[in-house]
Amino acid sequence: MKLICEKELCTGCGLCAARCPKHCISLVAEELGHLYPSVDQKKCIDCGLCQKACPSLHDTVCLYPSVAYAAWSKDEEDYRSSTSGGMASVLTHYFLANVGIVYGCTVIPGIEIKHIRIDNLKDAYKLKGSKYVQSSIVDVLSQIRQDVKDGTNVLFIGTPCQVTAVKRMYEEQPDNLFLVDLICHGVPSNKWLVDYIANTLKIKADKVSSIGFRLFEAYSLCVYNDDRLIYKSGNLWTHRYEDLYYNTFIDGFTYRDSCFNCHYAKPERVSDITIGDFWGLGNETDDNYIPKHPYGISCVLPLTEKGKRLISIVKDKLNIYERPVTEAINGNDQLRFPKKKNLRIKFFRRIHKYIGVDAAYKLCVCDKIVKYKIRKIIR
Ligand SMILES: Cc1cc2nc3c(=O)[nH]c(=O)nc-3n(C[C@H](O)[C@H](O)[C@H](O)COP(=O)(O)OP(=O)(O)OC[C@H]3O[C@@H](n4cnc5c(N)ncnc54)[C@H](O)[C@@H]3O)c2cc1C
Ligand code: SF4
Ligand code: SF4
Ligand code: SF4
Repeated sequence: MKLICEKELCTGCGLCAARCPKHCISLVAEELGHLYPSVDQKKCIDCGLCQKACPSLHDTVCLYPSVAYAAWSKDEEDYRSSTSGGMASVLTHYFLANVGIVYGCTVIPGIEIKHIRIDNLKDAYKLKGSKYVQSSIVDVLSQIRQDVKDGTNVLFIGTPCQVTAVKRMYEEQPDNLFLVDLICHGVPSNKWLVDYIANTLKIKADKVSSIGFRLFEAYSLCVYNDDRLIYKSGNLWTHRYEDLYYNTFIDGFTYRDSCFNCHYAKPERVSDITIGDFWGLGNETDDNYIPKHPYGISCVLPLTEKGKRLISIVKDKLNIYERPVTEAINGNDQLRFPKKKNLRIKFFRRIHKYIGVDAAYKLCVCDKIVKYKIRKIIR
């Protein structure tokens, strides 16, 4: 086996590596640090199991939401510390307190972004917050299979491509496996984040205990050393073009190639429940009856009967309001189409190898930077 799937479709989920009976697939960092499978030809027996597993080579059943909710957690502390309205957190708490275990994304000290297994409430905080970087799920795939086989109720929260990888481990989704996907516009690589923090911020990876990407309503990159904040970028919306990591992320310059061809950026969804930010709230019908929600609001789209049941169970932990499905979809680009690889991004991808990410990005958006600076002076 030379090529498992076309590079521009490979999401780096690692399911091929987890499935290979000869353990001859490793994920290797390529452009901008993104991981792609590499097959050790000497060990490969050409069994084809990797291609049979690969989510990018097969269609996955997706469902159109029949209802949409705007929601946020009634627990003030939980709400304040969540990225949107804390929907992921409410579901996580319900599972850990009552019925099972949760797999989600955390930052391991040393800047390793990966999915971990959580089986008790006191560790729920580890999953909180969006990490705007690709999380590795390779290590947890076999654990999930084992937990599901043992009859444990498992909640998996991740990007749609990760959810699809988990789903593809089964012919039919088991009753005790619950899947929640995030609305997702794309991911930079873990390696690029590590390089940025080391080379630009001059902070060694072993000094980093945690990283945050959203602080209440602000989009700020925060780096912590033992709970001490050692770097905080200005809010992206008031300090545009300052923090290179955040700006290249928000403009899509450092995404995986698969994100520009994302199979999952559409109204039909792969999971039991889709969650994200409710950006179009109030665009289609009056929302004046919804109380103030100063720290963001979750968009919640139940897809399956299982998803609907889960939401009805946790409803009393939420301020929750039904909204038109089209309002949710029309307000959020990633519920309609993938990020477009525009000319600026294409040019950046050609030149960053020669002049570096910083110079390449600034060159590609130089007109925007100048306009932004002039606007700031005038104001
Ligand atoms: C890379 C990325 C891109 C996103 N793009 C959009 C978008 O375009 N539009 C939109 O509406 N919403 C987007 N979101 C979702 C949004 O940022 C929130 O994660 C979501 O609304 C859940 O917030 P919450 O308050 O319910 O959860 P919180 O309580 O803050 O929990 C966050 C949950 O997300 C999971 N998670 C965090 N980081 C990752 C990661 N890197 N990979 C996989 N799972 C992760 C955690 O396991 C946790 O369960 C994106 C999220 C990520 C991680
Ligand atoms: S063909 Fe079989 S042995 Fe070869 S890489 Fe794929 S899964 Fe592994
Ligand atoms: S999409 Fe996943 S399974 Fe397919 S080749 Fe890429 S890493 Fe392997
Ligand atoms: S944009 Fe699509 S391919 Fe990229 S990380 Fe998100 S779900 Fe995966």
